[in-house]
Amino acid sequence: MDDHSTPDLDVPQPVAGVAFETLPLPTALLDAQSLRFLAVNASLLQTVGYEARELIGQPLATIQEVPSLHEGAVRLRARDGREHMLYQYLRLNGAGSGGVLVWTAHPLSADAEPSLRDPLTGLYSRRAFESRVRARMTAGRGGVLIYIELDQFKLVNDAYGREAGNDLLSQFGKLLQSLVRSDDEAAHLGGDEFALLLPDGDLDRAWQVAERIRFQVSAQGFEWRGRGYGLTISAGIASFGDGSQDFTELIAAADSACDAAKGLGRNRIEIFRADDQGAMRRVRGEQSWGARVLDVLEGGRFALFRQRIVPLRDDQPLHYEVLLRPQGALGWSLPGEFVAAAERYSLMAQLDRRIIARTVRVLAQTPVTEMPSAAVNLSGSSLNESALAAFVSRLIDEFELAPERLRFEITETAAIANIQRAVALVQALRELGCGVALDDFGTGMSSFSYLKALAVDTIKIDGSFVRGVASDPMDAATVEAIVRLARLRGLQTVAECVEDETTLLKLRDLGLDQAQGFHLHRPEPWSVP
Ligand code: C2E
Ligand code: CA
Ligand code: CA
Repeated sequence: MDDHSTPDLDVPQPVAGVAFETLPLPTALLDAQSLRFLAVNASLLQTVGYEARELIGQPLATIQEVPSLHEGAVRLRARDGREHMLYQYLRLNGAGSGGVLVWTAHPLSADAEPSLRDPLTGLYSRRAFESRVRARMTAGRGGVLIYIELDQFKLVNDAYGREAGNDLLSQFGKLLQSLVRSDDEAAHLGGDEFALLLPDGDLDRAWQVAERIRFQVSAQGFEWRGRGYGLTISAGIASFGDGSQDFTELIAAADSACDAAKGLGRNRIEIFRADDQGAMRRVRGEQSWGARVLDVLEGGRFALFRQRIVPLRDDQPLHYEVLLRPQGALGWSLPGEFVAAAERYSLMAQLDRRIIARTVRVLAQTPVTEMPSAAVNLSGSSLNESALAAFVSRLIDEFELAPERLRFEITETAAIANIQRAVALVQALRELGCGVALDDFGTGMSSFSYLKALAVDTIKIDGSFVRGVASDPMDAATVEAIVRLARLRGLQTVAECVEDETTLLKLRDLGLDQAQGFHLHRPEPWSVP
């Protein structure tokens, strides 16, 4: 067959219909053997400046200097000699003679076409994103779409105005960009809606990516004019790949999963899966908080981390605080939300007991020289456990642990909420020979008056005062007053959340006994099941 003759080939009707014609992306059907055009759509004709009759029957080489059958960047030459860089997708329908190659392309880089970027966030615009997803679909390639909404956007916008709202969007855009791989495509769809396209189509990875974003956002919050605000996202995940979906359906699916996430309390992720009835089924993340707490509790699926509490004077011993790390979707997770959920289901006191039991067992096996003592946090509900001291006493006997190696921390707020019980429990624990510290000191308003009644031996000054101690005279004065009062009563003082050297030096000046914080030691795994 001569390259310049026009072969008498039929355009396959089902694929060359209206949808094909009106696809916004350059698309063509090629004879799989000869690589000649069987059909071309309007978008391709517009890009290369040819008429349909000039291309049908001609080889791909007419517009592509080096015909390539690989997915990737290609250079197309238009009729007037101008060149276009595009990213091509190929899909083979049928083999041998009669086989048809579906060829689709999208503009290679959004930088080359600024309108494809959303000016606020620098991410893809909705239009650009849509064309990329459609290109993959047309090419028969799969992927996963993560649809994200910012839970507090409307609130921020209403309360602080458009400028704050826009700032929030652009901060989130940056975070999103920093958390995805280079071949993932991030878009700002408009308003508080964002989306990610993960081309590898792996739902597990999509879940992990979404979880990482959820976690980072809730950890970092949103900063505006020097103040921090809480921020969370809700996300829905939907995959495509069997060719049955179109873009609108895909977005609708991910959006409905996101709605479900919001309905379940926000700050969470749901995966969309259509079952036989076409109804939504949650795949991961279907586990309720209650079930998760039970799982961790009953299966002992939690790790204990430890963080050093460092003496600031020579005559002081080294301590450790024990920190709970419940098992999460991505490994050992932070305790904040988990502890709150466990409290809601009245399971926290039970969990405290398990943590105490594990701490006593592991501490008894850990040499004193390596770890002189460990402090366990007690939740508010443990204060109501009248039998807690007896439980601790039995454990200490059973594992032959020197009681002074075991310490407890009770938050000031929990103690004040139930002062009589707290007084009794602290007393009982001290009688066993265990140390007790009053945690988060300074946040409970009436701190000083209650201190008299509680037989604690240590005060842990809350991080909110410690952070500002080198820069804010009020914080410095507060810490100074607490230290003076503690000395008067013969109590040890610990500063928590020490994040830099300047703060540490200032604390030493102020006469603190011990310090704890990321600057000195990051929590590390201690007991991992
Ligand atoms: P907390 O008792 O005030 O524990 C100190 C928290 O501050 C820990 O967070 C620790 O990782 C963190 N931290 C330490 N140094 C720094 C620092 O320099 N900067 C900052 N930003 N943070 C620092 P974590 O492990 O997330 O624990 C949070 C809270 O969860 C604890 O506050 C405690 O109230 C509760 N919790 C943790 N483990 C347990 C546990 O085993 N039982 C009970 N009942 N509650 C626990
Ligand atoms: Ca603590
Ligand atoms: Ca604390």
